[in-house]
Amino acid sequence: MFFISDYLCNNTFQQKTATTFFKVEVIINRRVLLTKIALFAAGGLALSLKGLDFLWPKSFAFKRYIRPPGTENDDHFLKNCTRCRACVNVCEAGCIKFFTFLESPRLAGTPYLDSRQKACNLCMNCTQVCPTGALKPIEKDLEEIKKNVRMGTAYVSETNCLSFNGRICGVCRDACPVKGTALKLGIKARPIVDPDYCIGCGRCEERCPQNPSAIVIRRKEEDLIYG
Ligand code: SF4
Ligand code: SF4
Repeated sequence: MFFISDYLCNNTFQQKTATTFFKVEVIINRRVLLTKIALFAAGGLALSLKGLDFLWPKSFAFKRYIRPPGTENDDHFLKNCTRCRACVNVCEAGCIKFFTFLESPRLAGTPYLDSRQKACNLCMNCTQVCPTGALKPIEKDLEEIKKNVRMGTAYVSETNCLSFNGRICGVCRDACPVKGTALKLGIKARPIVDPDYCIGCGRCEERCPQNPSAIVIRRKEEDLIYG
């Protein structure tokens, strides 16, 4: 038997169900669309930031910095570092800093060392915990360190160095963990760096009594810029 009330009731139910499905579908479609727009915008932003770095007025990218030990070169490092900050948590010297977005959009979140402020003490802990190989593992053994660590190379400014200007200093040589090979003193205690042995730890730069330091560490990439 067919009752009109059943028909009305069923019809109303179907209409409600259809309306609900339609609403859900609209919401889902809107979400998908918004997600796609957000992903597209993020991709565009990432690309534009890469270019933006060259226009950044006070970009740290053009200032001196070195990477923690175990870095192959800056390109390799940037491709592999996920900005996880594992290195800073194990650093014994507390010398690892991170670029901020304002310093450089391209380098933001990556670790660096400013040797003048605080030099690496060669604990090698960061190389042991890096999960991506941005820093390759190096044992805490001076022979291994001498073979595998090349954070940069020390350069002496003869204009600024006390020993080149009538005083006897040599503080940098005393600070060097590879003294005698990486850093020797010549006549009148004038420092001589051998790039084949310098590991770029930055202790000489940290301890130099001159201000600005008469000895500074430069990365391989900076050597290409400055010659
Ligand atoms: S950076 Fe300075 S202290 Fe370190 S190994 Fe080179 S010369 Fe020696
Ligand atoms: S510590 Fe500085 S001023 Fe002294 S010898 Fe070394 S580079 Fe020159």
